[in-house]
Amino acid sequence: MTDQTMVEEVIVEETVLPETVVTAKAEEKIYELPKYNESATRHFDLLDTKLDIKFDWANQYVIGKANITSTPLFYAQSKMMLDAVGFDIKEIKVNNRIATYDYDGIDITINLDREYKRGEKVNVYIDYIAKPNEAPIGGSAAITSDKGLFFINPLGEEANKPMQIWTQGETESNSKWFPTFDKPNERTTQEISLTVQDKYKTLSNGKKVSSNKNSDGTRTDVWKQTKPHAPYLFFVGVGDFAEVEDSWNGMPLTYMVEHKYKEHAKEIFDHTPEMLSFFSEKLEYPYPWDKYSQVIMRDYVSGAMENTSAVIFGEFVQKTGRELIDNDNDYIVAHEMMHHWFGDLVTCESWANLTLNEGFANYSEYLWAEHHDGAEAADFHRVNELRGYLGSARQQGTHPLIHFGYDDKEEMFDAHSYNKGGLILHMLRNIIGDEAFFAGCNKYLKDNEYTAVEADELRIAMEDITGMDFNWFWDQWFFAAGHPELEVTHTYDAADKTLILDVIQKHEPTNEIPAIFVLPMAIDLYDSNGTLSTFNVTVNNRNQSLVLENVTSAPSAVVMDGTASILMTIDHAKTEAEL
Ligand SMILES: [Zn+2]
Repeated sequence: MTDQTMVEEVIVEETVLPETVVTAKAEEKIYELPKYNESATRHFDLLDTKLDIKFDWANQYVIGKANITSTPLFYAQSKMMLDAVGFDIKEIKVNNRIATYDYDGIDITINLDREYKRGEKVNVYIDYIAKPNEAPIGGSAAITSDKGLFFINPLGEEANKPMQIWTQGETESNSKWFPTFDKPNERTTQEISLTVQDKYKTLSNGKKVSSNKNSDGTRTDVWKQTKPHAPYLFFVGVGDFAEVEDSWNGMPLTYMVEHKYKEHAKEIFDHTPEMLSFFSEKLEYPYPWDKYSQVIMRDYVSGAMENTSAVIFGEFVQKTGRELIDNDNDYIVAHEMMHHWFGDLVTCESWANLTLNEGFANYSEYLWAEHHDGAEAADFHRVNELRGYLGSARQQGTHPLIHFGYDDKEEMFDAHSYNKGGLILHMLRNIIGDEAFFAGCNKYLKDNEYTAVEADELRIAMEDITGMDFNWFWDQWFFAAGHPELEVTHTYDAADKTLILDVIQKHEPTNEIPAIFVLPMAIDLYDSNGTLSTFNVTVNNRNQSLVLENVTSAPSAVVMDGTASILMTIDHAKTEAEL
């Protein structure tokens, strides 16, 4: 916003100046800082959030009491600002004493009773009514509304539609139903008391620690999570579900579906226990949360969401056994599960870094397919992901994967953060090998568990494990934009027994797209008997001749990057003999 305003002011000034001056001015080069969406500045470290919540279905209100404990992150503070969008605030107390505050409908600025120093805890109590249905609505292609909390069929007027409540926090929408520091680099433990009519079931993060019937026909369920997570991962779900129990290593798993799908619940969420084992073992980091619940809700605004230990899915996954044979839910189940390490345990510091969540979740689909269905099925899926990225790059252009210059944070949910993010992890794995790749993932998780991360933290973990320098890889794939477009021709020299490949990187370089990508890759040669020999080369020039030696006969086929592992396009002319 600041940049835009400054540009407009300059233009207005110039139009009122005499013509000659305008001409002179127009020749001057104007320098501007590039657009930069910084990570949120943290004044406080949020420690614990306790919420006591009831619902007014008729008005679609959340009647809440919040108890928030925090401490100044470093610098002493005498005011506290919390995100709280569209609330009626009844009362605020600081350490049990009535406090004064300013509220503009978006942020509450609370006057603390004194200055608090780092390490000193301050408790803020807020009695409020949230009106998520009355706040202005935004959203994105991936998450079509940012209301935060949704009442489905609240008056029970729609036939054949259950009455439900569910929340969608990502990106910064949970502050439409509880006050918090609604940024991904914040983190808090939580306890949520949900009072609902006794006929409804509830779901939230962590463990259900109590459930008590009240005299007025309601019931209060208390959900508690003692490990901290980001505010956007808080979840509340209310509805009449069939709840099917399962378990993994003694940890409860629940599948919550509509009653008529009860007998299909385990098949809908097929392989959940196997996937928990697979990812825990692959990462050598056991699933870190209290439970794993998966719930299907009506009119959900996205595909699914990795709310910590309480994953919500849209009703499109709700199918019968026969439908599931042709079209199972493995990819989306794996994707949300992998987020419990990449997203929930380590969390992108800002939305510019979203690929640190989504790239890994996207790649988990490949990993599960490779494990369960074999390399061929996994590669088929991966090539589809590559096509998805290339298609979007053609139509919408490219941007750096770590995209500090976005216009709207919701734009980050695109084929870059997801597809490209997953594809470059696959490239990295090919370069350093399986053992190093997963050891690097493990180090990254352990070094950064329960904190927010930037892309360099992943690089440092990979460098520490392998002893290699990866600035070149991070610079070209994470921080630059685009991908190489190669044009290749080859000739065989029978006298020298060499194969010469002429390789041109023909993509258009820009300020963001490098002229030269560094591309370690395999070249496969097949002789007339179909015997394969593989040569490892590095393409690292704009225009380059690669000479492969000891090629004893003219190959019948020459294939660069035969496994299509590199994020690029390749235009490789065949020789006349090969045609
Ligand atoms: Zn995801």
